[in-house]
Amino acid sequence: METIVLKFGGTSVGSISRIKKVAKLIKSYSKKYKVIVLSSAMSGTTNNLIKMSKDISSNFSFHEYDTLVSAGEQISCALLSGRLIEIGLNSRSWMAWQIPIITNGKHKFSRISHIGKKEIQKYLNTGGIPVIAGFQGINKNLRITTIGRGGSDSSAIMIAKFFNAKRCIIYTDVEGIYTTDPNKLKNAKKIKKISYEEILEMASLGSKVMQPNSIQDARLNRVNVEVKSSFVRKPGTLITKRKNIINNKIITGISTTDNDAKVSLLGVNDRPGIAASIFKPLSQNSINVDMVVQNISSNGKQTDLTFTIKLGDLQKTKKIISSNKKIIYKKMIFDKFVSKVSIIGVGMITTPGVTYRMFQALARKNINIQVISTSEIKISVLIKKDSLNKAIKSLHKEFNLDK
Ligand code: ADP
Ligand code: ASP
Ligand code: MG
Repeated sequence: METIVLKFGGTSVGSISRIKKVAKLIKSYSKKYKVIVLSSAMSGTTNNLIKMSKDISSNFSFHEYDTLVSAGEQISCALLSGRLIEIGLNSRSWMAWQIPIITNGKHKFSRISHIGKKEIQKYLNTGGIPVIAGFQGINKNLRITTIGRGGSDSSAIMIAKFFNAKRCIIYTDVEGIYTTDPNKLKNAKKIKKISYEEILEMASLGSKVMQPNSIQDARLNRVNVEVKSSFVRKPGTLITKRKNIINNKIITGISTTDNDAKVSLLGVNDRPGIAASIFKPLSQNSINVDMVVQNISSNGKQTDLTFTIKLGDLQKTKKIISSNKKIIYKKMIFDKFVSKVSIIGVGMITTPGVTYRMFQALARKNINIQVISTSEIKISVLIKKDSLNKAIKSLHKEFNLDK
């Protein structure tokens, strides 16, 4: 019998009735496959735990954060396993430390490096269905770790890799990967097949449907991933190699963010190394700088520097920059009401004029572009947050994604 990995996201196990439905779905697979189940916490649970950590301390210990926020998965796994037993199957829950799922890297953002196979394999051979906690791991110091928000996607893909599973199915609350977030644009269309490269860009640029690290893991290990709905039985989206896809569209998808902030430093004394001395302390504090633009002033001695960060990092960024003695500037300004909108597609490589069409479509709607960044298969622009819906709609139409 082949092995299959089924991962259920927060909404899919979000209530007792949902858990009962999911258990039935698992049962239907167990007749044909050895099934390994990965579960996320019930929706809302992880957010509540994070909120509690903030209420206890504004500087909550990273170690305790991971122990706390990984707790939601223990509840959902026990409930799901309990339901599988109730409907006549053989099942048990497994927390990451019991397997073990070994991680390395920083707390909150660890990565899975190894998974012990022995116990789970033995259990599978007895016909049991293991229900494994996503999102969590254990490090070499025997501390509980977590692997970033949305991380149970990664847990599932790494389990699929280590157990050589035929497929990893990510069950979620939408029918698959769409041309853009179907909860933001009702015209969004389900994509039948998408390449690792494209979904990696889409996920990294804000499409929450898959965690970006999980796609990297899938691509590296050539794991076949399918994304589908746990609510309706319809075909989903297959994530696969580029060469398996025939696509005549220039753009595959549109991604957006709604938690960015823009920081501008005006009248910075320009000298070699100035950008490094601004960005080094930010990176040392785990603040990720995304888009950057620098203008040279007319006298060539001063420069204006603009960059974007996550909104949640804004206070920390302000503090770090204003206490940095190495940089001299006239003024620091912020904008919390910005969004990044990106178009993604491998078709861009061979088609000239995509940038121009994007800019023109936005201009027609009177949307001003503040910052631009591009790579081989994507173009991102920063715009005012309240123009976001208009921008998605016009780009979706411009690149024929409605059809
Ligand atoms: P889960 O709890 O199952 O992991 P998530 O909330 O992490 O689910 O991801 C599913 C959500 O991702 C959808 O409800 C949808 O709003 C959002 N999403 C964003 N971009 C896309 C996209 N391009 N295709 C599908 N869903 C998307
Ligand atoms: N429960 C975790 C989170 O909310 C992991 C996940 O959902 O994948 O981030
Ligand atoms: Mg998710």
